[in-house]
Amino acid sequence: MDTFSEHLIKNEPTDSIAEQSLKMFYQKCENIRISEDDFKENLKITFKDILADIKSIGSWPLLDPKWNESKFDLNGMLINLAKLGKHENGLFTLINPGAPLMVVAPIRDDGADDLRLRDKGIKRVLKENNITFSDKTVDKDFEDFLKLYRKLRKFPIEDPLEVDQIGIREQVVKDQFPSIDFEKILENLVDPGNEKAMEMVKNRTVIHKINFFFGKNESLETIIQKTQKRVLANFLIFHFIDSSASSFKNQYNIEKCDEMATDNLPEAALSVIVRNHFDRENIQIVSDLVEEIKDSFEEMIQESTWLHESTKKAGILKLRKMKKTIGYPEEFENLDEIYKKMNLLPTDSFYTMLKKIDRLRGEMTMNFVALESLLDPSNDLLETNARYSMLENYLMIMVPFMDDPLFDSTFPKYAIMAGVGSVLGHEIGHGFDELGSGFNENGKRKNWWQKEDSEEYKRRMECLIDQYNNYDDPDFGKGHFNGSNTIGEMLADGFGMDTAWRIVRKLDMEKEPKIIGFDNDNTRKIFFRVAALSFCAPRDTDDIENILDREHPTDSFRVNGVFSNMKAFVETFNCPVGSPMNPKKKCELF
Ligand SMILES: [Zn+2]
Repeated sequence: MDTFSEHLIKNEPTDSIAEQSLKMFYQKCENIRISEDDFKENLKITFKDILADIKSIGSWPLLDPKWNESKFDLNGMLINLAKLGKHENGLFTLINPGAPLMVVAPIRDDGADDLRLRDKGIKRVLKENNITFSDKTVDKDFEDFLKLYRKLRKFPIEDPLEVDQIGIREQVVKDQFPSIDFEKILENLVDPGNEKAMEMVKNRTVIHKINFFFGKNESLETIIQKTQKRVLANFLIFHFIDSSASSFKNQYNIEKCDEMATDNLPEAALSVIVRNHFDRENIQIVSDLVEEIKDSFEEMIQESTWLHESTKKAGILKLRKMKKTIGYPEEFENLDEIYKKMNLLPTDSFYTMLKKIDRLRGEMTMNFVALESLLDPSNDLLETNARYSMLENYLMIMVPFMDDPLFDSTFPKYAIMAGVGSVLGHEIGHGFDELGSGFNENGKRKNWWQKEDSEEYKRRMECLIDQYNNYDDPDFGKGHFNGSNTIGEMLADGFGMDTAWRIVRKLDMEKEPKIIGFDNDNTRKIFFRVAALSFCAPRDTDDIENILDREHPTDSFRVNGVFSNMKAFVETFNCPVGSPMNPKKKCELF
């Protein structure tokens, strides 16, 4: 990160629009962080910008003494909010649950029922823009806002998983919501001009049959119909001011502008790192490693003594069709085009910059929903090392994974396999874990297992679950664990070590260089020692309740539990039969 910050500070000229945008954002941030004058100037423009945005949404009663109900257009306002990049408009929110889908959902109580919104938000926007208003009117309007707020936000919360979901294009939805045009709202959140994506997004958006939307006596629609238009218009604008306020509130206590820049423009930051601080040759090397691990995975499936031919064939097909992105997603090659559309300007207020970025991130989410992009923009690009998505049968290996301290192309092969190799095998293994094994080569839910095979696989999973449930952990003791929660990760760990080992066992041990400090060990022993080092950590003092929620088993199990199931480990270290690392009952996978 240090070299990256230095890069931002140096601010050398560049042709890349993405990089220019990143530096512009960073510079603006630094200016208002350091200079009192810049901060004040920025604030002044911010209030002007907020007012301009309010006017773009629709007619606001507090701005227009002659306001009357004929000036109110609910869908017009909702659509204009979408144009500003707002996925949440005050009445409902559009959520991307991680998978390529959109869900129309209620907004949870977000604490906007607070006089600070009235005094420091609404009245301040009016004052700073020299708009005369009567306190009495604003106070009365705010009271009406609160009443509606409570009605909408205090709706009993239901578990959406327990009710049906309906596509928003279904007639039932149109009949239920004569006041809301969901399709038009969605259209305006997508990159304008990309009609294909608009269609896809509309087809992939659902609404849950919860009472908030479909209640018999009271629902969002009946509330809208029973509420005065003035109250609704104010409600949407007040909500907008509240959401904008949170954006400029943050400007009072900016700490680190380099972090803020990378958080907001992670693709640009990644491209700067790749271009300036990263050995691009590593991308090819890691790409080759993925293929090598895939070959090893195929060998593991082929050599299985219990899988039937048809299951093997389907599994290998899935393996071979697994898509991969190494280091830098191809879609970022045209990052400049994407950033050009965002059009950040040095004269923009910080608020407007954040708004433009928000709009861009929203469009990226929609591209993900429309299946035009494989990247979920909510994943942290700079933190992610490696990830597998079963819905797309897609493996993503990011730049941080291919750099110090995890990877260096000069490491001996067995050390690379123990580190990066086993992680690659682990991620690929998620395609075959308890969930992944239910999806086929195209990421569609399909059972490709012969019946006896899936029954046998379940028995083998039970073996692992039991093993972890009875595991005697040095930090937590015995009998606290719930192996059903961690089965996916335990399977992936097993696959990861097995595939990496298969490559190491074929190496000529005499020819492999030793690592200083391990001179007395043969390279096979060093392989296991290096693999164990990845899980070296201080004593785990987390509460047992948290451990039970974790997807991963304890670090100790990820080493000792996994190794004790491997014949290769037992043979390499000559563990006596029945000793803790060589139990009579081993849980083997394929
Ligand atoms: Zn995992």
